[in-house]
Amino acid sequence: MSLARAIEAAEQGCRLERREALALLTEAELTTLGRLALAARRRINPPNRVTYCVDRNINTSNICLSACRFCAFFRPPGHPEGYRLGRRELAQKIQETLELGGTQILMQGGLDPEIGLEETCRTIAYIKDNFSIHVHALSPPEVVHMAQMAGLSIAETLGRLMEAGLDSMPGGGAEILVERVRALISPGKCSAQQWLEVMATAHRLGLNTTATMMFGHIETTEERLEHLFSLRRVQDQSLAAGRGRFTAFIPWTFQPGNTALAEVTPATAVEYLRMLAVSRLVLDNFEHLQASWVTQGAKIAQVSLSFGADDLGSTMIEENVVAAAGVSHRLDAAELQRLAGDMGYQACQRNTFYQLV
Ligand code: SF4
Repeated sequence: MSLARAIEAAEQGCRLERREALALLTEAELTTLGRLALAARRRINPPNRVTYCVDRNINTSNICLSACRFCAFFRPPGHPEGYRLGRRELAQKIQETLELGGTQILMQGGLDPEIGLEETCRTIAYIKDNFSIHVHALSPPEVVHMAQMAGLSIAETLGRLMEAGLDSMPGGGAEILVERVRALISPGKCSAQQWLEVMATAHRLGLNTTATMMFGHIETTEERLEHLFSLRRVQDQSLAAGRGRFTAFIPWTFQPGNTALAEVTPATAVEYLRMLAVSRLVLDNFEHLQASWVTQGAKIAQVSLSFGADDLGSTMIEENVVAAAGVSHRLDAAELQRLAGDMGYQACQRNTFYQLV
């Protein structure tokens, strides 16, 4: 595959094949990728608008059986720094989020051996009974963990969570959706196949989700592309069925601090921008791409808007997982608006489903 033909396919808005994506990711000039991704973003999203959400990440527990090698957040069962959030603390965090204009909470925990489906349903039902807020919660590894503990199928488990009030599910725990990679960095967690099955099932049941990718550790370039093409395939099927779907794709770079992979050299900002741009080009059936200011900082998040991102994610009134790796960028709504405004965009607050607030 020649690079020129791959560029031509992208310019014409054709669906990219894997070898075309590979040529672009490995050979194209950075500025060419930016030009192509920005054109694709303008075909899909309102050209002058950037969105963001006001929310808080709440981690209900850091106790986890999985011990993923890239994770600085978890503590094994019995560890003195392990915690489980009580109802009062949870309620306080949600109340503060609402008072700051928040519309959703992103709620996740570890694969905690003492928090199963029943307890999780009770927590979600408690939130929905007491607060007017969107519950964007859990992840495929947590759903698989709870299904196994309860002896239920994925569909039964998701059905129970939705009955309790789960509004949508973040695409966490994807890392790289390739079994070789997962066997090396997260052998205790659900497989790539299971991750994709949970998302396909969620969509079939009418639950919207997002998708993520954490790259820049031990994966190859081809494996990054396998991840993107698996997501595109599931999204094709979900859109054809006409119920739930992936609402957004959020790639970010691995942060090695305080992890068992601390020797890995972090991906550069240029690598991040190249991957973001190629993601925009490959994922032609995803409406939104989020910039990751949490891992990249404000300046690169701003540049991301010229490399295919149309959304600045959320204000994350609280964030614990990336912070555990020693990375702590903070931005509030006013700063997100300024970042977008400096690039000539109008920044608008949105809800979880990208409706303007
Ligand atoms: S990434 Fe999630 S599943 Fe893996 S160790 Fe951390 S908390 Fe547990």
